[in-house]
Amino acid sequence: MSSQQDPQAYDVIIIGAASAGLTAALYTARQGMNTLVVTKDIGGQALLTDSIENYPGFERIGGFELMSKFEAQTRLYGTEFIYEEATQIVEEEPCCFLVKTHSGEYRGTAVILAFGKTPRDLGVPGEQELKGRGVSYCAVCDGPLFKGKVVGIAGAGDPALDAAVYLKNVVGKVYIVNRLDKMIGSEDTLETLTQSPNVEFINNSRVKSLKGSGKLEALVLEEIPTKKESELPVNGLFVEMGYIAKTDFVKDLVELNANKEIIVDKEGKTSHTGIFAAGDVTDTPYKQAVVSAGQGCTAALTAYNYVQKLRGKPAVRADWKSKTK
Ligand SMILES: Cc1cc2nc3c(=O)[nH]c(=O)nc-3n(C[C@H](O)[C@H](O)[C@H](O)COP(=O)(O)OP(=O)(O)OC[C@H]3O[C@@H](n4cnc5c(N)ncnc54)[C@H](O)[C@@H]3O)c2cc1C
Repeated sequence: MSSQQDPQAYDVIIIGAASAGLTAALYTARQGMNTLVVTKDIGGQALLTDSIENYPGFERIGGFELMSKFEAQTRLYGTEFIYEEATQIVEEEPCCFLVKTHSGEYRGTAVILAFGKTPRDLGVPGEQELKGRGVSYCAVCDGPLFKGKVVGIAGAGDPALDAAVYLKNVVGKVYIVNRLDKMIGSEDTLETLTQSPNVEFINNSRVKSLKGSGKLEALVLEEIPTKKESELPVNGLFVEMGYIAKTDFVKDLVELNANKEIIVDKEGKTSHTGIFAAGDVTDTPYKQAVVSAGQGCTAALTAYNYVQKLRGKPAVRADWKSKTK
């Protein structure tokens, strides 16, 4: 849809298609709302693990498999998907919101923000150009692309160590670049890695920039105490710096906390009328798939009630049990 055309109107637009967004879509679509999901992928962070053992109903299930089931279930009720990154939301009087992407714009009466968390960038020169060209943010997803090759890991603590444990069995050589004089993390994992012949720690150092034309070729390292620079030839770099809520594009619309997470009330309402939020992107303290799914349901029902009220129609009752009395 080009921005010149009048965008098609949806009852609700959901941004993000993982535990929170897909559950929200299941509920809004089942309520008969014309539902559009704008998303970069299907599954979000759950795609980064092949074993989830705490999602009720499944003793053990892969993240991809679980998310595929979520997707299939919401498609049964007519949810539409657009695979694009939402970059801006503009309020239109009297009722609607325009969700903009790099190549289109979509109008919705209500919006549910369910875009979770995204890996934190390393923030060094060369990173943006070499993303997907040797620079990865997911060892489990991209490790097999570097079979037998040399890779670096930039990061700290258990996420970096866990990536190394996985990669040491896949790639030829793993360098872990660590700013401190000694790696910090789980003792057992550190012991395993110290005894692995193809794992090497480069302590007291940081990745200063990345080099490569078309694909990553080397890390420029700086020894922190001496500021001495050196080049480390690698085929890949795994950035393990944790996850952040990339909420800058909504920061002028909804209230955020100090961690840039969207503040919601217990009904999934944000500070802005007509905009709801769910999942890891919110200020909920527990970042788990089942929590995101529950919040997705809450935000969807509240969004439904909001749209019904705007149209002078009845809302769903807060106490569903009372329906059976
Ligand atoms: C390695 C790992 C293992 C985990 N293991 C477990 C576990 O065993 N059990 C458990 O319960 N939880 C686990 N979690 C946590 C769980 O994955 C998250 O709590 C859950 O995925 C959060 O879901 P979400 O829908 O809130 O957001 P996310 O999963 O972060 O998904 C966000 C969605 O929004 C999309 N998106 C982001 N920005 C935009 C944008 N601007 N425009 C459009 N789309 C956008 C993304 O593409 C994605 O579809 C794990 C997480 C990781 C990283």
